[in-house]
Amino acid sequence: MKFAAVIGHPVKHSLSPAIFRAFSEAMRAPLEYTAIDVRPEGLAATLDAVCESPWVGLNVTLPHKEKIVPLLDRTAPEARALGAVNVVRFRGGKRSGYNTDVAGFMAPLKRQRTTLRGKVCVVLGAGGASRAVCAALKKERVGAIHLFNRTPARAARLAREMKGKINVHSLSRKPLEEILEEEKPALVVNATSAGLDGRSSPLPRGVRLPKEAVAYDLIYRPEWTPFLRAARKQGCDVVFGLGMLVAQAAETWKIWFGESISPKTLLAIEKALQD
Ligand code: NAP
Repeated sequence: MKFAAVIGHPVKHSLSPAIFRAFSEAMRAPLEYTAIDVRPEGLAATLDAVCESPWVGLNVTLPHKEKIVPLLDRTAPEARALGAVNVVRFRGGKRSGYNTDVAGFMAPLKRQRTTLRGKVCVVLGAGGASRAVCAALKKERVGAIHLFNRTPARAARLAREMKGKINVHSLSRKPLEEILEEEKPALVVNATSAGLDGRSSPLPRGVRLPKEAVAYDLIYRPEWTPFLRAARKQGCDVVFGLGMLVAQAAETWKIWFGESISPKTLLAIEKALQD
Protein backbone atom coordinates (compact mmCIF):
# COMPACT_ATOMS: atom_id res chain seq x y z
CA MET A 1 0.00 0.00 0.00
CA LYS A 2 1.21 3.49 -0.91
CA PHE A 3 0.21 6.72 0.81
CA ALA A 4 -0.49 10.25 -0.41
CA ALA A 5 -2.46 13.27 0.77
CA VAL A 6 -3.64 16.74 -0.08
CA ILE A 7 -2.41 19.36 2.37
CA GLY A 8 -4.08 22.75 2.80
CA HIS A 9 -5.86 24.97 5.29
CA PRO A 10 -8.82 24.52 5.25
CA VAL A 11 -8.96 21.23 3.34
CA LYS A 12 -11.93 19.28 4.64
CA HIS A 13 -14.13 20.04 1.60
CA SER A 14 -11.48 18.87 -0.88
CA LEU A 15 -12.67 16.55 -3.65
CA SER A 16 -9.15 15.13 -4.11
CA PRO A 17 -9.63 12.08 -1.81
CA ALA A 18 -12.70 11.04 -3.87
CA ILE A 19 -10.83 11.58 -7.16
CA PHE A 20 -7.78 9.56 -6.09
CA ARG A 21 -9.98 6.79 -4.64
CA ALA A 22 -11.58 6.53 -8.08
CA PHE A 23 -8.14 6.55 -9.80
CA SER A 24 -6.83 3.86 -7.41
CA GLU A 25 -9.81 1.61 -8.21
CA ALA A 26 -9.68 2.23 -11.96
CA MET A 27 -5.92 1.60 -12.14
CA ARG A 28 -5.99 -1.30 -9.61
CA ALA A 29 -3.20 0.40 -7.67
CA PRO A 30 -3.73 0.44 -3.90
CA LEU A 31 -3.37 4.01 -2.62
CA GLU A 32 -4.47 5.43 0.72
CA TYR A 33 -5.15 9.11 0.02
CA THR A 34 -6.22 11.48 2.78
CA ALA A 35 -6.78 15.20 3.35
CA ILE A 36 -4.53 16.74 6.01
CA ASP A 37 -5.26 20.17 7.44
CA VAL A 38 -1.88 21.87 7.85
CA ARG A 39 -1.47 25.38 9.22
CA PRO A 40 1.31 27.48 7.65
CA GLU A 41 3.54 27.09 10.74
CA GLY A 42 3.27 23.28 10.48
CA LEU A 43 4.22 22.97 6.81
CA ALA A 44 7.93 22.08 7.19
CA ALA A 45 7.29 19.53 9.96
CA THR A 46 4.51 17.85 7.94
CA LEU A 47 6.80 17.54 4.94
CA ASP A 48 9.54 15.97 7.10
CA ALA A 49 7.05 13.52 8.59
CA VAL A 50 5.76 12.11 5.30
CA CYS A 51 8.65 12.28 2.84
CA GLU A 52 9.75 8.63 3.19
CA SER A 53 8.35 5.52 1.46
CA PRO A 54 5.54 4.28 1.48
CA TRP A 55 4.52 7.94 0.92
CA VAL A 56 4.60 8.76 -2.78
CA GLY A 57 3.78 12.45 -2.59
CA LEU A 58 1.43 15.27 -1.77
CA ASN A 59 -1.01 17.59 -3.48
CA VAL A 60 -0.64 21.10 -2.19
CA THR A 61 -3.44 23.62 -2.02
CA LEU A 62 -4.10 27.05 -0.48
CA PRO A 63 -2.32 28.62 1.36
CA HIS A 64 0.86 26.54 0.81
CA LYS A 65 1.47 26.56 -2.97
CA GLU A 66 4.13 29.29 -2.84
CA LYS A 67 5.51 28.73 0.65
CA ILE A 68 6.40 25.11 -0.04
CA VAL A 69 8.84 26.00 -2.86
CA PRO A 70 11.92 26.74 -0.65
CA LEU A 71 11.33 23.51 1.32
CA LEU A 72 11.89 21.30 -1.75
CA ASP A 73 15.10 19.79 -3.18
CA ARG A 74 14.10 20.49 -6.77
CA THR A 75 11.36 22.33 -8.63
CA ALA A 76 10.31 21.53 -12.22
CA PRO A 77 10.70 24.45 -14.69
CA GLU A 78 6.95 25.14 -15.06
CA ALA A 79 6.45 25.30 -11.28
CA ARG A 80 9.55 27.47 -10.91
CA ALA A 81 8.29 29.89 -13.56
CA LEU A 82 4.92 30.13 -11.81
CA GLY A 83 6.44 30.29 -8.32
CA ALA A 84 3.79 27.78 -7.22
CA VAL A 85 3.81 24.03 -6.58
CA ASN A 86 0.67 21.90 -6.36
CA VAL A 87 2.31 18.44 -6.52
CA VAL A 88 5.25 17.04 -4.56
CA ARG A 89 6.86 13.69 -5.41
CA PHE A 90 9.04 11.82 -2.91
CA ARG A 91 11.73 9.63 -4.40
CA GLY A 92 15.10 8.48 -3.05
CA GLY A 93 14.77 10.81 -0.07
CA LYS A 94 14.37 13.83 -2.36
CA ARG A 95 11.33 16.12 -2.63
CA SER A 96 10.47 17.39 -6.11
CA GLY A 97 7.84 20.04 -6.83
CA TYR A 98 5.61 20.29 -9.92
CA ASN A 99 2.69 22.34 -11.15
CA THR A 100 -0.13 20.52 -12.94
CA ASP A 101 -2.64 23.42 -12.98
CA VAL A 102 -1.45 24.67 -16.39
CA ALA A 103 -1.92 21.27 -18.08
CA GLY A 104 -5.13 20.72 -16.07
CA PHE A 105 -6.62 23.99 -17.31
CA MET A 106 -5.93 23.19 -20.97
CA ALA A 107 -7.15 19.56 -20.87
CA PRO A 108 -10.96 20.23 -21.09
CA LEU A 109 -10.39 22.76 -23.91
CA LYS A 110 -8.26 20.27 -25.84
CA ARG A 111 -10.86 17.56 -25.25
CA GLN A 112 -13.51 19.70 -26.98
CA ARG A 113 -11.00 20.76 -29.65
CA THR A 114 -11.10 24.46 -28.83
CA THR A 115 -8.06 26.03 -30.47
CA LEU A 116 -6.83 29.30 -29.05
CA ARG A 117 -3.72 30.11 -31.04
CA GLY A 118 -3.88 33.75 -32.18
CA LYS A 119 -7.28 34.30 -30.53
CA VAL A 120 -8.30 36.96 -27.99
CA CYS A 121 -8.92 35.66 -24.45
CA VAL A 122 -10.44 37.34 -21.40
CA VAL A 123 -9.47 36.26 -17.87
CA LEU A 124 -11.42 37.47 -14.83
CA GLY A 125 -9.45 37.39 -11.56
CA ALA A 126 -5.78 37.80 -10.69
CA GLY A 127 -5.08 35.29 -7.90
CA GLY A 128 -3.10 32.04 -7.97
CA ALA A 129 -5.48 30.26 -10.35
CA SER A 130 -5.41 33.17 -12.80
CA ARG A 131 -1.60 32.96 -12.86
CA ALA A 132 -1.82 29.33 -14.07
CA VAL A 133 -4.50 30.28 -16.63
CA CYS A 134 -2.38 33.15 -18.03
CA ALA A 135 0.67 30.85 -18.21
CA ALA A 136 -1.39 28.26 -20.10
CA LEU A 137 -2.75 30.86 -22.55
CA LYS A 138 0.73 32.25 -23.16
CA LYS A 139 1.98 28.73 -23.85
CA GLU A 140 -0.85 28.30 -26.38
CA ARG A 141 0.31 31.52 -28.07
CA VAL A 142 -3.05 33.23 -27.94
CA GLY A 143 -3.33 36.56 -29.77
CA ALA A 144 -4.07 38.69 -26.68
CA ILE A 145 -4.90 38.26 -23.00
CA HIS A 146 -7.19 40.80 -21.33
CA LEU A 147 -6.95 40.44 -17.56
CA PHE A 148 -9.72 41.98 -15.45
CA ASN A 149 -9.62 42.22 -11.68
CA ARG A 150 -11.66 43.89 -8.94
CA THR A 151 -8.34 45.20 -7.59
CA PRO A 152 -6.53 46.33 -10.77
CA ALA A 153 -3.17 46.77 -8.96
CA ARG A 154 -3.10 43.02 -8.29
CA ALA A 155 -3.71 42.32 -11.98
CA ALA A 156 -0.96 44.78 -12.93
CA ARG A 157 1.46 42.97 -10.59
CA LEU A 158 0.54 39.61 -12.09
CA ALA A 159 1.00 40.94 -15.64
CA ARG A 160 4.43 42.35 -14.69
CA GLU A 161 5.54 39.08 -13.12
CA MET A 162 4.33 37.07 -16.13
CA LYS A 163 6.62 39.17 -18.35
CA GLY A 164 4.34 38.94 -21.35
CA LYS A 165 1.88 41.14 -23.11
CA ILE A 166 -1.12 41.03 -20.80
CA ASN A 167 -3.58 43.92 -20.92
CA VAL A 168 -4.87 44.89 -17.50
CA HIS A 169 -8.34 46.33 -16.75
CA SER A 170 -10.62 47.02 -13.84
CA LEU A 171 -13.40 44.43 -13.50
CA SER A 172 -16.23 46.88 -14.05
CA ARG A 173 -19.01 47.23 -16.63
CA LYS A 174 -17.63 49.76 -19.13
CA PRO A 175 -14.12 48.36 -19.76
CA LEU A 176 -15.40 44.78 -19.85
CA GLU A 177 -18.22 45.60 -22.26
CA GLU A 178 -15.80 47.45 -24.50
CA ILE A 179 -13.46 44.47 -24.81
CA LEU A 180 -16.31 41.97 -25.23
CA GLU A 181 -17.92 44.03 -28.01
CA GLU A 182 -14.80 45.22 -29.82
CA GLU A 183 -12.43 42.27 -29.46
CA LYS A 184 -14.95 39.40 -29.68
CA PRO A 185 -12.95 37.03 -27.41
CA ALA A 186 -12.93 33.30 -28.17
CA LEU A 187 -12.67 32.46 -24.46
CA VAL A 188 -13.82 34.10 -21.22
CA VAL A 189 -12.49 32.48 -18.02
CA ASN A 190 -13.82 33.04 -14.54
CA ALA A 191 -10.74 32.65 -12.33
CA THR A 192 -12.28 34.62 -9.47
CA SER A 193 -13.93 33.01 -6.47
CA ALA A 194 -17.19 34.87 -7.22
CA GLY A 195 -19.77 32.10 -7.65
CA LEU A 196 -18.53 29.71 -4.96
CA ASP A 197 -21.62 30.67 -2.95
CA GLY A 198 -23.87 29.77 -5.91
CA ARG A 199 -25.24 33.33 -6.03
CA SER A 200 -22.55 35.85 -6.97
CA SER A 201 -21.16 36.44 -10.44
CA PRO A 202 -17.90 38.10 -11.52
CA LEU A 203 -19.83 39.77 -14.37
CA PRO A 204 -20.92 43.31 -13.52
CA ARG A 205 -24.70 43.78 -13.75
CA GLY A 206 -25.95 44.02 -17.34
CA VAL A 207 -22.80 42.58 -18.99
CA ARG A 208 -23.55 39.87 -21.56
CA LEU A 209 -21.02 37.50 -23.08
CA PRO A 210 -20.93 37.23 -26.90
CA LYS A 211 -22.46 33.92 -27.96
CA GLU A 212 -19.33 32.97 -29.94
CA ALA A 213 -17.22 32.90 -26.73
CA VAL A 214 -16.52 29.73 -24.78
CA ALA A 215 -17.21 30.42 -21.09
CA TYR A 216 -14.97 28.51 -18.66
CA ASP A 217 -15.49 28.64 -14.90
CA LEU A 218 -12.72 27.27 -12.67
CA ILE A 219 -15.17 26.87 -9.80
CA TYR A 220 -16.23 23.21 -9.58
CA ARG A 221 -18.81 23.39 -6.78
CA PRO A 222 -21.49 24.34 -7.69
CA GLU A 223 -21.23 22.91 -11.19
CA TRP A 224 -23.57 25.53 -12.71
CA THR A 225 -22.32 28.84 -11.34
CA PRO A 226 -24.23 32.09 -12.04
CA PHE A 227 -21.43 32.91 -14.57
CA LEU A 228 -22.00 29.68 -16.52
CA ARG A 229 -25.79 30.00 -16.29
CA ALA A 230 -25.62 33.52 -17.73
CA ALA A 231 -23.25 32.35 -20.47
CA ARG A 232 -25.47 29.44 -21.44
CA LYS A 233 -28.45 31.83 -21.61
CA GLN A 234 -26.49 33.83 -24.19
CA GLY A 235 -25.86 30.64 -26.20
CA CYS A 236 -22.17 30.19 -25.28
CA ASP A 237 -20.47 26.81 -25.00
CA VAL A 238 -19.48 26.22 -21.38
CA VAL A 239 -16.59 24.42 -19.66
CA PHE A 240 -16.94 23.23 -16.05
CA GLY A 241 -14.20 23.56 -13.42
CA LEU A 242 -14.46 19.87 -12.49
CA GLY A 243 -12.76 18.92 -15.77
CA MET A 244 -9.68 20.93 -14.76
CA LEU A 245 -9.65 19.46 -11.26
CA VAL A 246 -9.79 15.87 -12.52
CA ALA A 247 -7.26 16.57 -15.30
CA GLN A 248 -4.70 18.11 -12.94
CA ALA A 249 -5.15 15.10 -10.63
CA ALA A 250 -4.51 12.78 -13.60
CA GLU A 251 -1.27 14.69 -14.28
CA THR A 252 -0.37 14.14 -10.61
CA TRP A 253 -0.94 10.40 -11.02
CA LYS A 254 1.42 10.39 -14.01
CA ILE A 255 4.12 12.17 -11.98
CA TRP A 256 3.80 9.74 -9.05
CA PHE A 257 3.32 6.45 -10.91
CA GLY A 258 4.38 7.11 -14.52
CA GLU A 259 1.00 5.94 -15.84
CA SER A 260 -1.58 7.85 -17.89
CA ILE A 261 -5.27 7.39 -17.10
CA SER A 262 -7.37 7.00 -20.25
CA PRO A 263 -9.66 9.89 -21.33
CA LYS A 264 -12.64 7.51 -21.15
CA THR A 265 -11.90 6.66 -17.50
CA LEU A 266 -11.38 10.34 -16.64
CA LEU A 267 -14.71 11.28 -18.21
CA ALA A 268 -16.50 8.51 -16.29
CA ILE A 269 -14.92 9.67 -13.01
CA GLU A 270 -15.88 13.28 -13.77
CA LYS A 271 -19.49 12.22 -14.42
CA ALA A 272 -19.63 10.20 -11.20
CA LEU A 273 -18.35 13.18 -9.20
CA GLN A 274 -21.00 15.47 -10.70
CA ASP A 275 -23.82 13.34 -9.32
P1 NAP B 1 -7.32 33.73 -4.83
O1 NAP B 1 -5.85 33.69 -5.05
O2 NAP B 1 -7.87 33.94 -3.47
O3 NAP B 1 -7.94 34.88 -5.82
C1 NAP B 1 -9.29 35.19 -5.79
C2 NAP B 1 -9.64 36.10 -6.96
O4 NAP B 1 -11.07 36.29 -6.98
C3 NAP B 1 -9.03 37.51 -6.88
O5 NAP B 1 -8.74 37.96 -8.18
C4 NAP B 1 -10.19 38.32 -6.27
O6 NAP B 1 -10.13 39.71 -6.59
C5 NAP B 1 -11.36 37.69 -6.98
N1 NAP B 1 -12.64 37.87 -6.30
C6 NAP B 1 -13.03 37.36 -5.12
N2 NAP B 1 -14.31 37.70 -4.86
C7 NAP B 1 -14.75 38.46 -5.92
C8 NAP B 1 -15.98 39.11 -6.24
N3 NAP B 1 -17.02 39.04 -5.41
N4 NAP B 1 -16.06 39.77 -7.41
C9 NAP B 1 -15.02 39.83 -8.25
N5 NAP B 1 -13.81 39.25 -8.01
C10 NAP B 1 -13.67 38.57 -6.84
O7 NAP B 1 -8.00 32.37 -5.35
P2 NAP B 1 -7.46 31.36 -6.48
O8 NAP B 1 -6.60 30.34 -5.87
O9 NAP B 1 -6.93 32.15 -7.60
O10 NAP B 1 -8.82 30.61 -6.90
C11 NAP B 1 -9.84 31.26 -7.64
C12 NAP B 1 -10.96 30.27 -7.94
O11 NAP B 1 -10.49 29.24 -8.79
C13 NAP B 1 -11.52 29.59 -6.70
O12 NAP B 1 -12.91 29.57 -6.80
C14 NAP B 1 -10.97 28.18 -6.77
O13 NAP B 1 -11.86 27.23 -6.20
C15 NAP B 1 -10.87 27.97 -8.26
N6 NAP B 1 -9.84 26.98 -8.65
C16 NAP B 1 -10.25 25.88 -9.34
C17 NAP B 1 -9.31 24.94 -9.75
C18 NAP B 1 -9.77 23.74 -10.53
O14 NAP B 1 -9.00 22.76 -10.64
N7 NAP B 1 -10.95 23.75 -11.11
C19 NAP B 1 -7.95 25.12 -9.47
C20 NAP B 1 -7.57 26.28 -8.77
C21 NAP B 1 -8.53 27.19 -8.36
P3 NAP B 1 -9.28 40.76 -5.69
O15 NAP B 1 -7.84 40.60 -6.12
O16 NAP B 1 -9.86 42.05 -6.01
O17 NAP B 1 -9.49 40.33 -4.25
